[in-house]
Amino acid sequence: MPIVMKNDATESQVAAVGAVIRAMGFTPQPMPGIQRTTICVLGNKSRVDSSQIEVMDGVMEVIHVTKPFKLVSREGKEPTVVRVGANAFGGAALPVIAGPCAVEDRARFLEIAEIVKEAGATMLRGGAYKPRTSPYAFQGLGENGLKIMAEAREKTGLPICTEVMDTDTVELVSEYTDVIQIGARNMYNFSLLKRVGKQKKPVLLKRGLSATINEFLMAAEYILSEGNWNVILCERGIRTFEEQTRNTLDLSAIPIIHELSHLPIIVDPSHASGRWDSVIPLARAAVAVGADGLIVEVHQNPKEAFSDGPQSLKPDKFLNLMQDIRLIAKSVGRQV
Ligand code: PEP
Ligand code: MN
Repeated sequence: MPIVMKNDATESQVAAVGAVIRAMGFTPQPMPGIQRTTICVLGNKSRVDSSQIEVMDGVMEVIHVTKPFKLVSREGKEPTVVRVGANAFGGAALPVIAGPCAVEDRARFLEIAEIVKEAGATMLRGGAYKPRTSPYAFQGLGENGLKIMAEAREKTGLPICTEVMDTDTVELVSEYTDVIQIGARNMYNFSLLKRVGKQKKPVLLKRGLSATINEFLMAAEYILSEGNWNVILCERGIRTFEEQTRNTLDLSAIPIIHELSHLPIIVDPSHASGRWDSVIPLARAAVAVGADGLIVEVHQNPKEAFSDGPQSLKPDKFLNLMQDIRLIAKSVGRQV
C-alpha cells in the first residue's frame, strides 16, 4: 500500500505518517523520489484500513495495490534509479556491462577489462562461480576470480558485477563485488533471493529460463521484501521451441515491465541468442525498445573461451556494438 505524499510534504509530515503505520503494527519504508516521497507499508498480509492516513497533512493519495508484487509494482511509485559508481540504471545514460563469461586467468581478465573500458563499457562482468550444465565443465576460479575482478576494478576504475550461486557464498561475493548477479537458474531459489535481499549491494536479477513476467517480478519482490530495493532486472531470453538460438529474447517484456514495475530492466543479448552474430542486432533492438542498459560477453579469443565462446564478441565487434547503440540511444532520448 504506497502512500503518495504531496510535492511539498515536509519531513515531519512523512515522519508522522510513518509513526501511524508503526502504531498499526507495520513497517513504513519511505522512498524519496525526484518529485515526491512515497511511503510503502511492509508487513501487512491483507488490505489495510487507510482511512486514518488519508486525512493526514501532506498525504496526497493512498493506493491499494492490486498486483501480487506489491513493492515491485509501479503503482504509486516513480521509476527507481539504481546507482553503482558512475552508472545509473534507469537514468538517461545507459550503463553497458561487458567482459568475459568467466574469469579465466589474471592476465587475460585484466587485459579484457582495459579493452572493454576503452570501447566504452561502464562496468565489468565475469563469473567466478559458474553455473554449468555439466559438473565436469569449468566451474570458475572461486575467490581467486573475485580477487582478480577486484584488481581489475582498481586498475580501470570500473565497478564489477559477478554471480553468486548459493547462500553460503553471499557474504564473500558481496565483500568483493559492486553488483551481485543472480543467474537465470537461480531465479526460483527463494532462500538465495531472501539472502541477497538482506545484504546491501545492488542485485542484478536475471529472468529464469521459463519464468513468466509475473514470476520474474515475484522473484524481485522477495529481494525487496527483505529490505534491498536496489534491484536491476535483466531479460536474458527464455526457452522456446526455437532451436536456431540458445534462447528467445523476449523484447516485449521490456515495455511491459516498465509498465508494471518501477525497477530498471536491462538486456543480455549474449545469453539470449547464444550466437555472437546475433548479439549486435539484438543489442540495437534492446536499446530501441527502451532497455535501461546492456550486459554483453566479450572475449579476446572466443574460440578458446572456457565458457560461452560461441556467443562472445571479439573486441572489434564490441566496439561496433557501442557505436551502433550510441546512435540508437540518441533516437530514443537516451545516451551511451
Ligand atoms: C552469465 O551471465 O554468465 C550467466 C550464466 O547467465 P544466465 O544466468 O543468464 O544464464
Ligand atoms: Mn555466460
